Amino acid sequence: MEIISAEMIYTALAVIFLLLLVFLAGRHCVLRYDTTIDKFIEFNNNIMVITNDEEIIKVNGAGLNFFGYSTLEAFKKDHKYIHKLFEEVALSDKDRFAIEPKWVTKIDSHREIKVKMNYQLNTNSRIEQYFYLRVSEIKSHKYLLTFSNITSLEKEKNDIQEEAEHDPLTRIYNRLKFNKIFNEMYYRADTFGEGFSVILMDIDHFKQINDNEGHTIGDRVLSELATLVRLELRKNDVFARWGGEEFIILTRFLSAKEVHQFSERLRKVVEQYRFSFVNRQVTCSFGITQFRKGDTQSDIFKRADDALYRAKDQGRNQVVLK
Ligand code: GH3
Ligand code: MG
Ligand code: MG
Repeated sequence: MEIISAEMIYTALAVIFLLLLVFLAGRHCVLRYDTTIDKFIEFNNNIMVITNDEEIIKVNGAGLNFFGYSTLEAFKKDHKYIHKLFEEVALSDKDRFAIEPKWVTKIDSHREIKVKMNYQLNTNSRIEQYFYLRVSEIKSHKYLLTFSNITSLEKEKNDIQEEAEHDPLTRIYNRLKFNKIFNEMYYRADTFGEGFSVILMDIDHFKQINDNEGHTIGDRVLSELATLVRLELRKNDVFARWGGEEFIILTRFLSAKEVHQFSERLRKVVEQYRFSFVNRQVTCSFGITQFRKGDTQSDIFKRADDALYRAKDQGRNQVVLK
């Protein structure tokens, strides 16, 4: 039997000691790394969340405050998954969150995902806020989620869009927005056969109203008329100022007879309404048409225009379907 020499024992002990040292140093580094991350997220003003590939591990102070909690334990008792708190996400990401519990592992760290979450103002009221979410893997199976608040940017963007799509006088859609919706509607009609109707309406002898009452009163008639018509529409009807004293309505699910009846009702509502500061009856003429298979977009507008022209020609204050 071989005799173990003292030298071998010393070497073995030295190796074990070295290994222990390496292990302790490693552990120390990991703990320091964790503490550094904890400190970093704690002092950050952005909402920050650490998750493993599924559940929430940590939420920083900004996050707890946002969701209305004072401790992490209380928060975790109510919420296990962070994505359940996302109210709204871009359509392309929606499915991902819904289908994949481990969605966090699939997000590219260079991507910014827009999400909406609600700020818990008090027990009864919440304020919606928009964020860009970034996901970074900080360790294996550990992810840091950073939410940058973009609510004011989002609001500015919405205001600009709202301005670009509405007529400033009547506050209804302008022609630009109408055309956008019309394009979609036309595509669906042309592809899937979902029909629609177009109603063109034009104020009769509006020039006389302007000439007699003045342009300011004319403007007032336009905005009162828009309000009046809006009250008669269904939720999904599209109503826009086509230009000058001409308006356009896009409506679905109506037969030719129904769209005629509906326009006739509008005609009567306008005829019977007493406009402010105008000492005469204000009436409108209506030209209506329905989508027909094989129609180009201009075919539809041409028919509606022809119908309106005929309504004017036949004496105004009437509805013509073509
Ligand atoms: P018709 O019955 O044939 O439609 O006659 P009309 O007088 O209504 O039509 P015409 O096209 O001759 O005149 C339209 C008038 O609408 C002329 C224009 O000054 C006026 N108008 C267009 N836009 C506005 C507007 O924003 N405000 C005011 N006050 N008037 C406008
Ligand atoms: Mg007119
Ligand atoms: Mg006109």
